[in-house]
Amino acid sequence: MILRVLAATALLALGGPASAQVPPNAALPFVLKELAPGVYAAIDGPEHQSGSNAGFVIGDDGVLVIDAFFYPEATRVLVGEIRRLTPKPIRYVVNTHYHADHTGGDQVLRDAGAVIIAHKNVRGWVRTNNINLFGDRITPEIKARIETLPLPDVTTEKDLVVWLGTRKVVVRTVLGHTGGDLTVAVPDARVLFTGDMLWRKVPPNLIDGSVAQWTATDAEFMRMPNAAQTRFVPGHGDVADVRDVAEFRAYLLSLRRLVGEGRKAGLKGEALVGSVAPKLRQLHPDWTISDRAIAAEVKYMDQELAGTKQRPVPQPD
Ligand SMILES: [Zn+2]
Repeated sequence: MILRVLAATALLALGGPASAQVPPNAALPFVLKELAPGVYAAIDGPEHQSGSNAGFVIGDDGVLVIDAFFYPEATRVLVGEIRRLTPKPIRYVVNTHYHADHTGGDQVLRDAGAVIIAHKNVRGWVRTNNINLFGDRITPEIKARIETLPLPDVTTEKDLVVWLGTRKVVVRTVLGHTGGDLTVAVPDARVLFTGDMLWRKVPPNLIDGSVAQWTATDAEFMRMPNAAQTRFVPGHGDVADVRDVAEFRAYLLSLRRLVGEGRKAGLKGEALVGSVAPKLRQLHPDWTISDRAIAAEVKYMDQELAGTKQRPVPQPD
């Protein structure tokens, strides 16, 4: 990967026609990382051309993909990379939750042959609640895309085991991010795809979350028997280890404590944000924390502590 990027840079520096000479995968919208034989993380780059992280597992007789990105163009590149690595069929995509930055490319994967597996609640939310996710940034194009996102083919509210030949993939239901969250574990490789239950060095989106449940789930990750040897693929940010899980959980606990202290001091709205943001940044100096993200987090944390937080409601089938 690094060699290809260097080669591409060298060609550009020489002023040559890059499109003719650079291999097609020289500038991927994500960084592909092989974490174990046949287990790959696709990490969104700093320009967010994919919208979130994804990954895939190559088994004896097929491929299982975890999450679908937001941009279908990036998902098409992901399918191309899988095709470059293996001729085995792409049999499944597991959506870790309904948010469009993880489901936006589902149709590309379905067209490539995948069955879409998701939590039971995703069917009721993927075409509707995703509108809320965009807030004032919604456009007619995004709205139209959301309203035609594919519905999952297989839904569950229980843990599942998917066998790729002899390779075992464990899909678990977890609580905290949306009310319809799954993680995907590859036990033989000690890799856990956490979806948005984990973010590395960037603030999480709490729009549908429960910090109380979320921190409990992250504590479970930390207590897993092989936690110290496990590689965690977060929904956003680079590949993580158990120390990153602890740091992320500490961030959520700090947010809750600081918002609670501000509330006790009678602070509201912008004053509450103004009190919490510098303290949280001081506690996590190597994180990238935008003003927009912190304002939203403080608002949602305030609502959770006030008992007024709205979370997505499960819909009847
Ligand atoms: Zn999410």
